Amino acid sequence: MNTADTELVMGILNNNGYDFAKDVQSADVVFLNTCSIRENAEQRIYGRLGNLKILKEKNPQMVVGILGCMAERLKKNLIEERKLVDIIVGPDEYRRLPELMDVVYGGGKGIGVKLSRTETYDDIIPYREEGLQAWISVMRGCDKFCTYCVVPFTRGRERSRSLESIVKEVEHLSAKGFREVTLLGQNVNSYDDNGNDFADLLAAVASVDTGIRVRYMTSHPQDFSDKLLYTIAAHENLCNYIHLPVQSGSNRILELMNRTYTVEHYLTIIEKAKKIIPGVSFSTDIISGFPTETLEDHLMTLELMEKVKYDGAFMFKYSPREGTKAYRMGDDVPEEVKSKRLQQIIELQHRHSLELNSELIGKTEKVLVEGFSKKSDKFFAARTDSNKIVVIPIQDGIVEGDYVEVRIDRVTSGTLFGEVTSVFDKYKSSAV
Ligand code: SAH
Ligand code: SF4
Repeated sequence: MNTADTELVMGILNNNGYDFAKDVQSADVVFLNTCSIRENAEQRIYGRLGNLKILKEKNPQMVVGILGCMAERLKKNLIEERKLVDIIVGPDEYRRLPELMDVVYGGGKGIGVKLSRTETYDDIIPYREEGLQAWISVMRGCDKFCTYCVVPFTRGRERSRSLESIVKEVEHLSAKGFREVTLLGQNVNSYDDNGNDFADLLAAVASVDTGIRVRYMTSHPQDFSDKLLYTIAAHENLCNYIHLPVQSGSNRILELMNRTYTVEHYLTIIEKAKKIIPGVSFSTDIISGFPTETLEDHLMTLELMEKVKYDGAFMFKYSPREGTKAYRMGDDVPEEVKSKRLQQIIELQHRHSLELNSELIGKTEKVLVEGFSKKSDKFFAARTDSNKIVVIPIQDGIVEGDYVEVRIDRVTSGTLFGEVTSVFDKYKSSAV
């Protein structure tokens, strides 16, 4: 989401005559786009500001700005506390950046931290490098108010972009040769553009160009509709892959988190998805050490993981965020207990990833060739529908951006290795 927002900011600045510096040393203006989701994300920014301070001492004219959630959360404090910061702009005021830059050049401090109920930046074309994959924000904000989460406070109320403007953006990306788009929102299932829901949006986006594979994140289990599952099943270029954060396997903790679903309801969605979308795979987010979490609650999370068997998971230690409801519940799970539980969750996930990957040996997967593999330029790295990397030998007739079919020969928990069996031009879209 921050990558998408950064491209938006780059679009706004570029339209106003700003160009991009090659590196931070040669820049007149440096913006850090920030995340407040967990304490360590914020700590990293303080680290970066420390480095910028040294640069600014050498070049006092350099303007330093903080964008995004930290700007919203810490507001003017950041400017007062850190004299180094000249400009501070929250997620809904990026349009004002050029004007706020003028304030800074006039000797003042540029501050824009108001949240909006309507801003979706519908009309702004993000500045993107040439490439194969693009992020597209389809919604902003969140109204769910999970008790641990800072997002509703830093990114404001939920609002959807118009379907028409999203489809136009995908058409534009198609014309530029992009081959994959990921639609982004904190809770895409509550997308609503004058009666068009998220399934309608996905169907419209998938129909723009069957040579573009479509991903999305994130789905909230509460609002997941059957219509969405049938839509995914009906379009070959919609990935058979659902990121469905569960957070915990204990109903007591889910209630304290205000997640508004139970483990039983969650498992019903998984079962339905498996029936409606053959070969579907899942990934999730899990938080360990939420306030009052007992060993029993933790074991329920491991049990749920055993039941679902996720292809992948983002796993976090609970991080108290000031202003949230959970903050007032205390942070009573000791750090070493949190770490130990997280470690067990990570180990179990690795075991499941390896198990699921091993089941793919001998099978074929349709993948997008993304470029050279990280370790060797004799191999390409390609990506499956389920977001796994497959390493394939380079061969004549195959280039970056091709969709190819590969046979999987060997796997680890994190990577697949295979051989190309055929090359496709486009995904065939099947009839609904
Ligand atoms: N809107 C999405 C994702 C939000 S942030 C959703 O609801 O699924 C991504 C993930 O960060 C969350 O799913 C959650 O697992 C994690 N997260 C959010 N706040 C956190 C906190 N205070 N401590 C630890 N992890 C947190
Ligand atoms: Fe945060 Fe919950 Fe909204 Fe996700 S759905 S952004 S976790 S409040």
